Amino acid sequence: MSHEKLACPRCDALYPAIKLADKQIALCPRCGCKMAEAKADSINRTLAISLAGLLMFIPGISMPMVGATLVGQYAEVSLIDCLFVLLRSEFFIVALGLFLFTIAIPLIRLLTAFYICLAIKRNRVTHTHLQFFRSYHFLDSWAMLHVFFLGISVAVYKLAEYADVSLNIGLAMFIGLLLCSILTHLTLDHHTVWQKLEQSPNV
Ligand SMILES: [Zn+2]
Repeated sequence: MSHEKLACPRCDALYPAIKLADKQIALCPRCGCKMAEAKADSINRTLAISLAGLLMFIPGISMPMVGATLVGQYAEVSLIDCLFVLLRSEFFIVALGLFLFTIAIPLIRLLTAFYICLAIKRNRVTHTHLQFFRSYHFLDSWAMLHVFFLGISVAVYKLAEYADVSLNIGLAMFIGLLLCSILTHLTLDHHTVWQKLEQSPNV
């Protein structure tokens, strides 16, 4: 008989762990909080989505997102350009925030999810993957691509009143990257990953 326990994240009640079928959800009988969810084909889906996100990462941050024509002058801007404009304007704290939350953390999240899922799929899990997954768990809620996207949307709406605005390929790549980042969060089954890491003889 397994001694593995499942803890409720809200009321801390402990229950014997049960194996869930695909798409089944374990709810706490005491407070009704969701304790675990078995996501269908979690490892394969996360592997594919994180790879797609990584492929769109460089174009998403470096290609021009928005172009504007004002009094005959055309200018276009990418995420990296925004970062350099902030640095040139000496808004160092804002530039650091932009770099961390829209470039560094989303990249580390996608790389970590891809690396862990690949290791689980190939049955080559080691102690290093445990550390990687802890960092993924920590960074999971700190990727803020959606905040930058909201900022871009508002800026385009405001700019359209004064200039001829065009949406460029970089914006499509950035939206793809944003979707992959959200989908990675939705498809990665933390409970399954912890189980696979615990069951590995190398950990
Ligand atoms: Zn509970």
